Amino acid sequence: MTRYRLFNHNRLLLILGLLLTVGFLVTSFISYEVSKRSILDAIVDQSLPLTSSNIYSEIQKDLVRPVLISSTMAHDTFLRRWVLQGETHVEEMAHYLREIRQRYGAFASFFVSERSSTYYTGDGVLKQVSPDEPRDVWYYRTRALTDDYEINVDPDLANQDALTIFINYRVYDFDGNYIGATGIGLTVDAVRRLVTEHQQRFNRKIYFVDKAGKVVLVGNSAKALNVDLHTAAGIGPQLAQILATDSGSYQYVDADGHTQILQVNYLPELKWYLFVEQGQDAALAGIQNTLLINILISLLITTVVIALAHLALKNYQVRIEEMATIDKLTGLLNRNAFTMLMKKLLADHKRDPQPMAFLLADIDFFKQINDRHGHLAGDDVLAGIAKRLLDGLRESDLVVRWGGEELLVLLRHCELSEALRIAESLRQDIGETAFAANDRSIPVTISIGVAEYQAGESTEQAVSRADAALYQAKNAGRNRVCVAPPG
Ligand code: GH3
Ligand code: MG
Ligand code: MG
Repeated sequence: MTRYRLFNHNRLLLILGLLLTVGFLVTSFISYEVSKRSILDAIVDQSLPLTSSNIYSEIQKDLVRPVLISSTMAHDTFLRRWVLQGETHVEEMAHYLREIRQRYGAFASFFVSERSSTYYTGDGVLKQVSPDEPRDVWYYRTRALTDDYEINVDPDLANQDALTIFINYRVYDFDGNYIGATGIGLTVDAVRRLVTEHQQRFNRKIYFVDKAGKVVLVGNSAKALNVDLHTAAGIGPQLAQILATDSGSYQYVDADGHTQILQVNYLPELKWYLFVEQGQDAALAGIQNTLLINILISLLITTVVIALAHLALKNYQVRIEEMATIDKLTGLLNRNAFTMLMKKLLADHKRDPQPMAFLLADIDFFKQINDRHGHLAGDDVLAGIAKRLLDGLRESDLVVRWGGEELLVLLRHCELSEALRIAESLRQDIGETAFAANDRSIPVTISIGVAEYQAGESTEQAVSRADAALYQAKNAGRNRVCVAPPG
């Protein structure tokens, strides 16, 4: 039997799905954005500055001390007098330098005289410095300094792992005239280890940059040493601004396209900037995963909700449609549903006229059956006849409970002669069937009026002609088929 939709629930499901999806996505993204903000704020406001000040205080221990020692040497009365008295008794100077070196556990200690260009160490005279010798460049740089000292990190020494720094301190006589450079050399393993450890523990890059923008000290593989950051991708254009202030937070996109959050602090004792930076992507990886999981869970929930809603609606719809279209006692189409279907069938017929016939069947002496066997038995007989008719017809034929015990059959694509043959066979079949009710077999017959559908007719007109034929059949003695003349 043809089933037709009273309403379409796909729109409802679509709206439900959209609402859930949009709701979930908006919530997920808002919470992601909030988490992201607070993570980034925490990095900029707390974690990078904290790392920076931790390292700074360690550095102060490790690097500031040599500066103080060198300063003490530069102001030492013995050293200055010895120079002013003509650099005689080399052994005294060597003894002095040796003592300094041993007392402070330095790697080297030195004095270079401006007057004689002699390079003294704890072992005595090392050599004469010369402006033409590349290895002596540092001396002439120190000589030209406007500041009192420079810190020179020397990566070229034999012992590569033990990074060495020299403090080159300018020495003046008692009248303020420049008379040479002194200082000590130190290995700064400890600083480097600290920086490397911080880098690994907090997933950050830590490096030192001098005032010229050159990278002077790095943890393991943070940056290439001696690179001029002015030419570095991403950070280069901002460098002038960064070096112009003592501290600040910055952001730049590195050569690989990753956003870096950068904290810079100037360390006045070293005349270096401490750069601590952290990749934003790595910091956000955790909540990005959470976002992804949230979205997946949301999609799963949305799918389940929609599937459940779909099942519930479908069930509900089928039941409502049945209630609205199916007669409960007989399981046949009710008159309302049939009237609605006929509108479509008559429209189809207009476009493509195919022969159709109406059979109106009425149970003979049904009142007597009710009276004799009871109304419930009558119901059983009526339902039995309905089932019998359904079984004897094609899928495309419509069987309708037209009135109380009047059943209407619409035979589609069926000539009148064929309709008559079918009506006759149905009548015979019913007459020969024993209908059981109250443990008894109840014989029953039906009369049928047949009307062939005439083009342009309404359903009512055709059925009323079938009704007239049925009346004829009743009058002629019942249990027979009569045909209505064309209207
Ligand atoms: P005939 O059609 O041969 O002239 O005689 P009849 O006794 O069948 O008379 P009629 O068609 O006028 O009466 C129909 C009776 O069918 C009246 C009513 O009580 C009974 N009837 C109608 N609907 C139902 C129903 O759903 N169940 C039962 N048990 N009886 C019904
Ligand atoms: Mg009747
Ligand atoms: Mg009857």
